[in-house]
Amino acid sequence: MTEFRADLHCHTTCSDGTVTPEEIILLAAKIGLRGLSITDHDTVSAYEQAVPAAEKAGIELISGVEFSASHRDISVHILAYAFSLSNEHILSFCRSHQERRHNRNKTILKLLAKHGMPIEDTDLLGNDYHTIGRPHIAQAMVKKGYVSSIQDAFNKYLKEGGPCYAAGDVFSVEETLDVIHQANGLAFIAHPHLINNERLIRQLLEMPFDGLEGYYARFQPSQEERWVKIAKKKGWLITGGSDFHGTVKEMIPLGCSWVNEEIFRKLQAHYQKNAVS
Ligand code: AMP
Ligand code: FE
Ligand code: FE
Ligand code: ZN
Repeated sequence: MTEFRADLHCHTTCSDGTVTPEEIILLAAKIGLRGLSITDHDTVSAYEQAVPAAEKAGIELISGVEFSASHRDISVHILAYAFSLSNEHILSFCRSHQERRHNRNKTILKLLAKHGMPIEDTDLLGNDYHTIGRPHIAQAMVKKGYVSSIQDAFNKYLKEGGPCYAAGDVFSVEETLDVIHQANGLAFIAHPHLINNERLIRQLLEMPFDGLEGYYARFQPSQEERWVKIAKKKGWLITGGSDFHGTVKEMIPLGCSWVNEEIFRKLQAHYQKNAVS
């Protein structure tokens, strides 16, 4: 039997990934992963397909989602795990996020039209159940020939503070933590390695998270050490995963970061308790 590895951070076509929920399960099995959590942005809709697919493929799956939050106008990603997939707090929060995104995307499209780059709602991929974000808008801009690449769209127009960026309504980190804990889920600071604001980091570390994502994407153990140390000192759990998005982030393959069996079983035990209660 190969070493137990579980990737706890990946995206599907239900948000801004390019691989369907069923495909990601098959891919996980193919590369020898034993456990997985799908963490689409602001939706758990992947699980409808992923749960039966995982059962069939022998992949152990635990619930997950990556919520977009904001702390004093700075965007913060929060990973939630191990809640029941039918928990109404989580489902209703996901619906609120879809509404927030719908309104924000409309504002971004208006700004793009103003800049001579009209895009119709129908040019965006997905549907009501699936999260549509700036990567989809960027993709539509490439397709229309307004920009040369998704990165070009972000750099010139869509990045935070860019001329066609709109934050729209946001949920605070505190509100997000409340929802996750009401759902009896576990909340983690996502990819702290990417936060380049020490003040924000200090503030987040004082908040009631259950842990942080210590192992992330292609970061080297030396770059992860800081986060692992902080988590251990606080008695927090440490999660990890690739943040796989498929072909839109080619450098990041599924399973390039992972957690061991001990961590996975802890989350899984929590998930199983929630699933039956
Ligand atoms: P949204 O949640 O709709 O605001 O979009 C956020 C997503 O866009 C992130 O999860 C990334 O996948 C992507 N993204 C954000 N900033 C950039 C950037 N500067 N360049 C490329 N992709 C980005
Ligand atoms: Fe993303
Ligand atoms: Fe993220
Ligand atoms: Zn992610």
